[in-house]
Amino acid sequence: MAKISIDLNSGTVAKSEAVIGIDLGTTNSLIATINEKDRLPYCITSDAQSIVPSVLHFDADTILVGNNAVKQMIAYPENSIYSVKRLMGKSYGDLQDLNHDLNYQIVDTGDQLVKVKLAGKEYSPIELSSYILKELKTVAEQKLGNTVNKVVITVPAYFNDSQRQATRDAGKLAGMDVLRIINEPTAASLAYGIGLKGEEGKTVAVYDLGGGTFDISILYIQNGIFEVLATNGNTYLGGDDFDKAVLTLWVEQHNIRNITPSESQLLRLTAEAAKKRLSKTHLFEETITIGGTEIKLSLDQMQLNTAIKPLIDKTMKCCLNALKDAEIDTADIQEVILVGGSTRTPLVKDTIRTFFYAAQLNDDLNPDEVVAMGAAIEADILAGNRKDMLLLDVTPLSLGIETLGGLMDVLIPRNTKIPTKLHKEYTTSVDGQINLAVNVYQGEREMVEDNRKLGEFILQGIPAMPAGLPKIEMIFMLNADGILKVSAEEKRSGTKQEVAMKPQYGISDEEIKTMLKASIENAQADMDKRSLAEATTDAEQLIYATQKFINENGQLLTSDNTVAIKQHMEKIKEAIRAKNKDFIVSTTDELNNYSRQFAEQVMNIQISKALQGKKI
Ligand code: ADP
Ligand code: MG
Repeated sequence: MAKISIDLNSGTVAKSEAVIGIDLGTTNSLIATINEKDRLPYCITSDAQSIVPSVLHFDADTILVGNNAVKQMIAYPENSIYSVKRLMGKSYGDLQDLNHDLNYQIVDTGDQLVKVKLAGKEYSPIELSSYILKELKTVAEQKLGNTVNKVVITVPAYFNDSQRQATRDAGKLAGMDVLRIINEPTAASLAYGIGLKGEEGKTVAVYDLGGGTFDISILYIQNGIFEVLATNGNTYLGGDDFDKAVLTLWVEQHNIRNITPSESQLLRLTAEAAKKRLSKTHLFEETITIGGTEIKLSLDQMQLNTAIKPLIDKTMKCCLNALKDAEIDTADIQEVILVGGSTRTPLVKDTIRTFFYAAQLNDDLNPDEVVAMGAAIEADILAGNRKDMLLLDVTPLSLGIETLGGLMDVLIPRNTKIPTKLHKEYTTSVDGQINLAVNVYQGEREMVEDNRKLGEFILQGIPAMPAGLPKIEMIFMLNADGILKVSAEEKRSGTKQEVAMKPQYGISDEEIKTMLKASIENAQADMDKRSLAEATTDAEQLIYATQKFINENGQLLTSDNTVAIKQHMEKIKEAIRAKNKDFIVSTTDELNNYSRQFAEQVMNIQISKALQGKKI
C-alpha cells in the first residue's frame, strides 16, 4: 500500500506530492498536471506512446491496460474490454439503449449494477475502471518521478449520482484520493481560464465531438460557480461516423463488393486518414489494393463536406434543443469551447461559428487535451497551490444521512465549496409510517457505522400512507461558518422538522486524515458491504411487498401458488441469513420471475412504487 498523506483542511499539500487531473474517456484517457514553474497545465500523456486507450485485456493471469491491451485486442478480441465508461453506474435494464454490439458478455444482474463476464470471472465496471486509473497513476508516477495520490476525475455533465459515485469508487479502488469529480465541460472552461476569476456571469456552450459521442453543454459561470443549464447530445455520434460516411462514398464510387474484414479495416483507416488530412489540406489521394486490384482513392474538401454535413446537422439540432431547455437564445451564448478531436474538422468549426454568431470561439488549445488540463487546474486549486485565486472554503468530509440497511447516503460530497445547499428526495419503507428517524453522519465510508454521527432528529406526524408514497425532501445547508442545517419536509402534508449542527466541532485535522485514509484502504471491503446491504434491503422489501400481496390478493392465488411463493420467500430469508450477496440476488430474481405472472394481473401500484426510490 502506497503511503498516503492527505491534508485537506489546511488546503496545502506536501511539496513532494504531485496532484493530477484525469479525463477518464470512453476511448482514450488522459492525465494532466501543473507545471511548477508557470503554473500552467500540460498533458503528461500527450506523446503518442503514453496516450492511454481505455482498453483492458485479460490473459490467464495478467491484466493489460492501454496500448498493450489494444495490441492484443486485434488478435484476441474476446478477452478485451473497451467502452467501460458506457457501463458505469448502470443496471442491466439501463443498458437497453446500448445499441452497439460489445464483444464482451454483460451479466444480467437484475436491478443491481451490471457486471462483465470474462474467462469465467465477473468484473464490475468500477473494478475495470479502477484498473485503467491504476495504470494512469503508474504512468503519471513514472513520468513525474513522484508519487501521485490526489486526483480530480472528469465525467460527462449528464452523469447521474450513481454514475458519479461509480467513478469516485473506481478512483478509491485504484488507491487514490479523489479530491473531486467534475464535469467535462467545466474542466474545458477552466482550461480556457473561464471561471477562474471572480467575474461577471457568463453563458458558455461547450461543444464536444469525439470519436463515438457528442455532447453539448450550456453552462452559466459566475464567481467560480459552474451551473449546468442544459445538456444534450448523442451517445452514438462522432468522428467514427464521419469515417463511415467517407467509406460509403468510396464503396459506391468504386463499386467495391465482397471485401474481407481486413480490407474493410484498411478502408476505414484510410477514410480516417483522409478526413484528418483534409483538416489541413484540400485534397487526399492514395492507392490501395482490394481484391487483388489497385484502387485509386481520392477525396476533396467538397466531397467530405457533403458526406458529413447530415451528421453535423444532427449535432446542431442537439444544440438547438439544449438552448431550448436552458431557455436562452443563441445570441446569449458568449463563449463557445471546442472539445474532442473531431472539432478540428473545418466544416464543424465553420458551422459552429455561424450558429453561435454572437460568441467568442475558443479553439486555441488541443481539443483532445482541454478536459484533462482543466481537471489538473481544479486539482491545483483544491490542493491550495493557487495563491492568486480566492480559495473558497470546502468541506473536508462528506455529509449525509443513513438510509435503509445502514448505508451512508451523501448529500454534500467532501470538497464541496461552502456555502452550499443540496436537496434530495426520500420516502418511507413501511406502510403507515408516521415517524421518520433522520440520522446525520460525516465521513467517506459506505456504512454509517464506520462514519461519525453528527446528530439525529425525528420527523413526526407524517400522515399514514403506504410505503413509498410520502415524498420527504431533505435539505442540507452548510453556511460559511460551517454550520450545517438539516431539514426534512414531507411534501404532501407539509410536516417539517429542522436541526442545526457543527460538523467541524470536535474533530481534528489528524482525525480527518485518518478517516480519509481508512476509506481508501477499505474501498473494496466497503463496496462489498454496500452491495450486500443493498441486495438485502431489496430482498427484504420484496418479502414485505409479497407478504402484503398474499394478504390482500390471496384469493387470486391457487394453494399451489401460495406454497411456491412461500418456499421462494424462505429461500430468500435463508440467503439473507447466510449474508451471501449472490445468493440473495439469485433467489430474489427467482421470486420476482415467479410472481411476475400475478403481478401483471393485478399490478398493484403501491408495490411498484414501494420498490422505487431510496428509503430511510
Ligand atoms: P473520444 O473523446 O471519443 O475518445 P477524441 O476526442 O479523442 O474521442 O476524438 C477522436 C476523434 O477525433 C476520432 O474520430 C478522430 O478521427 C478525430 N480526429 C482526430 N484528429 C482529427 C483531425 N485532425 N481532423 C478531424 N478529425 C480528427
Ligand atoms: Mg473525449
